[in-house]
Amino acid sequence: MAERERRHVRVAVIGSGFGGLGAAVRLRRQGITDFVILERADAVGGTWRDNTYPGCACDVPSHLYSFSFAPNPEWPRNFSGQPHIRAYLERVADTFGLRDHLRFRAEVLSMRWDTEALHWEVETAAGPLTADVVVSATGPLSDPKVPAVPGLDTFPGKVSHSARWDHDDDLRGQRVAMIGTGASAIQIVPAIQPDVERLTLFQRTAPWVLPRADRKITAAEKWLHSTFPATRAARRGLLWGIREMQVSAFTKRPDELGLIEFLARNHMKKAIKDPVLRAALTPDYRIGCKRILLSNTYYPALAQPNVDLVAAGLKEVRGSTLVGADGSEVEADTIVFGTGFHVTDLPIAQRVTGAHGTTLAEEWKDGMSALRGASAAGFPNFLTIIGPNTGLGNSSMILMIEAQLNYLADFMRQLDVLGPKIALDARPSAVQEWNRRIQQRMARTVWNTGGCDSWYLDKNGRNTTAWPGTTAEFKKVTRQVDLAEYAVLRPPAGKPADRPAGPRTEVAA
Ligand SMILES: Cc1cc2nc3c(=O)[nH]c(=O)nc-3n(C[C@H](O)[C@H](O)[C@H](O)COP(=O)(O)OP(=O)(O)OC[C@H]3O[C@@H](n4cnc5c(N)ncnc54)[C@H](O)[C@@H]3O)c2cc1C
Repeated sequence: MAERERRHVRVAVIGSGFGGLGAAVRLRRQGITDFVILERADAVGGTWRDNTYPGCACDVPSHLYSFSFAPNPEWPRNFSGQPHIRAYLERVADTFGLRDHLRFRAEVLSMRWDTEALHWEVETAAGPLTADVVVSATGPLSDPKVPAVPGLDTFPGKVSHSARWDHDDDLRGQRVAMIGTGASAIQIVPAIQPDVERLTLFQRTAPWVLPRADRKITAAEKWLHSTFPATRAARRGLLWGIREMQVSAFTKRPDELGLIEFLARNHMKKAIKDPVLRAALTPDYRIGCKRILLSNTYYPALAQPNVDLVAAGLKEVRGSTLVGADGSEVEADTIVFGTGFHVTDLPIAQRVTGAHGTTLAEEWKDGMSALRGASAAGFPNFLTIIGPNTGLGNSSMILMIEAQLNYLADFMRQLDVLGPKIALDARPSAVQEWNRRIQQRMARTVWNTGGCDSWYLDKNGRNTTAWPGTTAEFKKVTRQVDLAEYAVLRPPAGKPADRPAGPRTEVAA
């Protein structure tokens, strides 16, 4: 890798999805150009590069699910599909001059904080480097999770995961078993149902599904948005405002969500006439407890004669026979897992060793927590984008990412003001207090009280993923770094800096 000659950078960003690219744009805007973006794949896009399954699309309208600093008046639909979002991120990389910073096939294998040099030693698949600051934007839904199903290794057909779609496996005329009923699965089912011979859907928990108000964005709208940017901003503002108003029902008054349940039931009734199937598809928990899904085609697909539902989930595999937890047996040629991601056990956490010689995963063994969703105690100059308790149930994650980019910008500003070779380490007391307040508020939310088991909760039943407030509130609490929440680390006395301070940030006014 070209960085071998250079070895040291001011900032190493890990990941090139919305989070990593956004961080890079923000660094450049701050006048920081001495940074690299380390990406394990060979292209930018993150989620939207990896998820290429049939029907893959966003559940948040595109004018809100995009960067505020990179508006796109040309979005083709309300809810754009994966190819358009991926293309948008490629354009962001070009428009903001990020190409020279990108290092592909540079998976971060391990990282260790050097307590004397006050920097990170980073081992990547493309060689080592050191960095004053590391921004981890490896994504919450990046590493596919496949459950340990007994006998899976005896299955003679193809096995894949929604996030690693096998485009060489032509499903036409095949008997396909789809495992899971989450956001990806409910997009895949209607997309493949017309082509496959038989589709068996293994459902452990029924999802709540609402209609999807999708349509083409007209040429007139696109013209209006590019000619009068205020109209685009107003559209975004409206989409944002509607979602902000819904938050209190999720976080404080889950009972108010009953009306939404009524709408969801009606939505199902229109397509599913069989009362037995309807009963099996009716969730037994409060809407919102798990992510609410949007689809106009999921229920109609389930009503088709070539589709079966096993509402008890998958118990085991015996050769080409899949056995449901209710004892039902079905033959399949291909298994597709739509079983989600490692969310509360982020793989990167095992690879980051902090100031006390422990990994982030060890520190988080009882649950993830980070000050303002970004900084873990004992991991100086290490910021996570979409860290613990930053997830949303009803709005665009790009809003949360942008709030965290403000925090990153101020973090860099503070480091510059403090001088060269300085590091900031979140105080354990500050992290604990932040976490205590989050968990206190979490107790009332629908995610904790709605009677479901979701990926928002970790193995201890603690909600370490969701943000229990509005995005405006998160933006407010991440506007600035409060130095009182950090210990300022300086090189040990008598140890001169082992290298010149290097290119410094031009401090923004
Ligand atoms: C199918 C799907 C649909 C979604 N729909 C929505 C939606 O409708 N609305 C919404 O708000 N959110 C949605 N999300 C959530 C989505 O993940 C976030 O909105 C956002 O894209 C996350 O961006 P990110 O940059 O943080 O992570 P990612 O996009 O996951 O990017 C992480 C990057 O880090 C790289 N990486 C990981 N580990 C390493 C390593 N060790 N070394 C180097 N590189 C590494 C990965 O290769 C990847 O490129 C969806 C997610 C999925 C999977």
